[in-house]
Amino acid sequence: MTLASRMDNLGTETAFEVLAKARALEAQGKEIVHLEIGEPDFDTPKHIVEAGVQALRDGQTHYGPTAGLPQLREAIARNSREVRGIDTDPGHVVVTPGAKPIMFYVILALAEPGVEVIHPNPGFPIYESMIRFSGGTPVPMRLLESKGYHPDLDDLAQKITSKTRLIIINSPENPCGSALTREELETIADLVKDRDDIYVMSDEIYKDILYTGEHHSIAAFPGMDAKTIILDGFSKSYAMTGWRLGYGIMPPELVPSVVKLAVNSVSCAATFSQLAAVAALDGPQDDVQAMLAEFTQRRRLIADGLRSIPGINCPEPEGAFYAFPNISGTGLTSAEFEDRAMNEAGVALLSGLGFGEFGEGYVRLSYANSQENISKALENLDAMVRNLG
Ligand code: PLP
Repeated sequence: MTLASRMDNLGTETAFEVLAKARALEAQGKEIVHLEIGEPDFDTPKHIVEAGVQALRDGQTHYGPTAGLPQLREAIARNSREVRGIDTDPGHVVVTPGAKPIMFYVILALAEPGVEVIHPNPGFPIYESMIRFSGGTPVPMRLLESKGYHPDLDDLAQKITSKTRLIIINSPENPCGSALTREELETIADLVKDRDDIYVMSDEIYKDILYTGEHHSIAAFPGMDAKTIILDGFSKSYAMTGWRLGYGIMPPELVPSVVKLAVNSVSCAATFSQLAAVAALDGPQDDVQAMLAEFTQRRRLIADGLRSIPGINCPEPEGAFYAFPNISGTGLTSAEFEDRAMNEAGVALLSGLGFGEFGEGYVRLSYANSQENISKALENLDAMVRNLG
């Protein structure tokens, strides 16, 4: 088969591959603790499920408008005004099946050969994959362990050129667990506010899973809502990964292109999922708080546990549900650590290299698993490392 050459530029998300490997070992009777996949282990809150079921019973099983149901776009705009303090117009909201399509569409709409896109590295691998697929040039913004996985903003200033058209930020961050401060966001906003030709895509999908301080959106800084695409969704905050629902809030001039890409690919997001999402935004937020409380305890357990293993350093995660320890002191590469963790310790985790070139020397552990399983994983990893010899 002769595939189109553009397929050579498409990367992947290794979490799904490692999950498949783990499942194959489980089928042979091996016990594996799953710390590879980035999804909350909680069930979707009951009142949200009920709203989805009710919608199905009411016959909400048909196509809807491509940009999303008006009542959901309004609920998202209302929510954004409350949590970000931005005067959001429902007409600037586009709802998609998961938030990933927003990434895909925005990058396809803006990047092309000759255009540079700055993205966090280590970072969510789909950013770089999509930039390459579009023909644009990915420019990594390195997150530094020495700065608790925050970027060096002087370095970012140097990376912005006349070819830069998009800067991607992600806070709280996958895989590093860092969260940009208000001051850092302000500095980034200052760097781009006078450049009409630069947009910022702010991936805020983990905004509700933040352990210290408050979430700030770069879109809230003066002049920035006109050049920011906010990416957010329901997968992480409301444990709704399988409902496939996300959204972008974007400058109005970008909406028609994003909607055109959506109509060419997915037509619309599932109608009943959208009605469940209205219930998620407008209903009680107790479950979000309960999840955060549980993640807070797990974060303590995993960060302290990893630090007590010889050769491992784990900066404090500030948000999301990922620990990103430096494992170079064990003498193993990231790929070797991933492999041995799976085969010898029965722990599925991800090599940092899956998150970009600056991920070598690191691994990612998702602590979206019970404290009991996290403890078991830590014990097994400790024994594995002590036995390396
Ligand atoms: N952005 C980041 C940083 C993520 O980690 C993920 C999922 O893992 C997404 C976006 C997309 O999530 P979804 O498509 O499930 O809404």
